[in-house]
Amino acid sequence: MFKLDGKIALVTGGSRGIGRSICEALAEQGATVVVNYVKGEAQAREVADGIIARGGKAEIMGFDVADMKAAETAVEEVVKKHGKLDILVANAGISIDGLLLRLKEEDIDRLVQVNLKGSLACARAATKAMMRAKTGRVIFLSSVVGEMGNVGQTAYSATKAALLGAAKSIAREFASRNITVNAVAPGFIDTDMTSTMTDQMKDFIVKSVPLARTGTSREVAAACAFLASDEAAYVTGQVIRVNGGMYV
Ligand code: NAD
Repeated sequence: MFKLDGKIALVTGGSRGIGRSICEALAEQGATVVVNYVKGEAQAREVADGIIARGGKAEIMGFDVADMKAAETAVEEVVKKHGKLDILVANAGISIDGLLLRLKEEDIDRLVQVNLKGSLACARAATKAMMRAKTGRVIFLSSVVGEMGNVGQTAYSATKAALLGAAKSIAREFASRNITVNAVAPGFIDTDMTSTMTDQMKDFIVKSVPLARTGTSREVAAACAFLASDEAAYVTGQVIRVNGGMYV
């Protein structure tokens, strides 16, 4: 089950963290994975080389998801080279935390540009290609805070909530073309993004998680592999929560 042999997948922000695990999981299931990066070319190459060393197929592609034209060109290049794009995982994201009264305008702009506009730019370019093929999978990386909110994460959580609305709308727009669009909403996952938190902050959050631990990026990637598969053909406009019960 969940085999992805012959599928072409683009994973944005695939050079580390959850994105890296998604690249590895999709490749393990047989997909050819295009590992997108913006700054970490060496890390992206390491991810692709690791996949290839284990017998999988991967390549790297640098572009900034917040640059709509660059995202469009990148998808066109993938389609030109491989003849199609079956799976887009819009994983790239940034977090800038701060209480509303302290948030700077440029922080709000950047969060919207990368997390929301970047994901929509990639989805727009990908669905264009998927429409022609009359099949496709789009997966957005939202967040538990997009559904439950969090003190100090007003702008970040707003972008992640927006992705849930986007996933549901795009799912409706493209259902007749056999393209499914879903979101994965991780809880507290151990990655570079969360590494700046103090142990005290981490302990505090873990106390609110019924499963009493942080999640792993592999656990988030598994949900993406399912949504990308043929077995998930009847799942669209949904949110899969991988959060240890933090929000139910
Ligand atoms: P991370 O910071 O480790 O990785 C994010 C990746 O996105 C990096 O590779 C980064 O280079 C890339 N990226 C950032 N801006 C980009 C841009 N403009 N263009 C292309 N790539 C860009 O974070 P992570 O923890 O692996 O998070 C991955 C996704 O999951 C993010 O969307 C994040 O919001 C979401 N998420 C993470 C957690 C968590 O606890 N770690 C929880 C919920 C949701």
